[in-house]
Amino acid sequence: MQRPVALVSLIALASMLRYFTRPVTAFQQNCSVVYEDATRRAAVIDPGGDIDALMQEIGRRGLMLEQIWLTHAHIDHAGGTAELARRLNLPIIGPHPGDQFWIDGLPQQGAMFGFPPAEAFTPTRWLQDGDTVELAGHVLHVRHCPGHTPGHVVFHSPEMQRAFVGDVLFAGSIGRTDFPQGDHATLIASITQRLWPMGDDTVFIPGHGPESSFGQSARPTPTCAARKAQGASALRRSLFVQPAHARHVLAQARDAVGAGGVGRQEAGRTGAPEALPIFSHSATEAAGL
Ligand SMILES: [Zn+2]
Ligand SMILES: [Zn+2]
Repeated sequence: MQRPVALVSLIALASMLRYFTRPVTAFQQNCSVVYEDATRRAAVIDPGGDIDALMQEIGRRGLMLEQIWLTHAHIDHAGGTAELARRLNLPIIGPHPGDQFWIDGLPQQGAMFGFPPAEAFTPTRWLQDGDTVELAGHVLHVRHCPGHTPGHVVFHSPEMQRAFVGDVLFAGSIGRTDFPQGDHATLIASITQRLWPMGDDTVFIPGHGPESSFGQSARPTPTCAARKAQGASALRRSLFVQPAHARHVLAQARDAVGAGGVGRQEAGRTGAPEALPIFSHSATEAAGL
């Protein structure tokens, strides 16, 4: 009687989504590859560069790359997109149209930061809040999380309890907002109203540095390990991270949202002070983001 159960379990295990993360470019950007164990079908999130090494790693694992998903169009996340799409004839999915000007500016971004020449591209499909992307029948949810860039999106897999959040949130910090069309209050609203409802236990894979969970991200005191990790990568991450007061800001936001607020989509509507604007998709659309 054990065998059929074991077989079913094995099949279920084999059809699970998995991922690995490999830092790419001089900024050590966390490029993730999501794949299904059984079929080896795969999608890459944010191929910022080091395309040869990335393709080697994908080949070594016997994966078949089918899609490119983008969180936002900063050079370290999107710089290798055009080359990879051309080499493997892949569709480019994302980011949100708000990042069009960052895509157009990829060659200049590359020159400014000393990257290999980067090309602009046209996404096969733009993403909007509430969209989904699909890999081998597995669905990931797309949330629009502006603030770091206006067209930033994140990919959430309830199945894996993982969220790929780009430069919105880091272990112990938040994304920089002093770029063109960056906005601090909008970023905080994205984090509290679009990321935290995914649940305290959801692990997020940030664009730089170690993974953490949303519950951990809102705690006021960093652990020793988190401090150490922050210190080790602070130099490279400093281009895209606001280091100093971020955790304090998040702790305040959590207090503002109120006890039990995390995990409730509506929480921000009742408890947030004026410093935390209620994020509304239509409001940012009106502002042209
Ligand atoms: Zn960025
Ligand atoms: Zn980045």
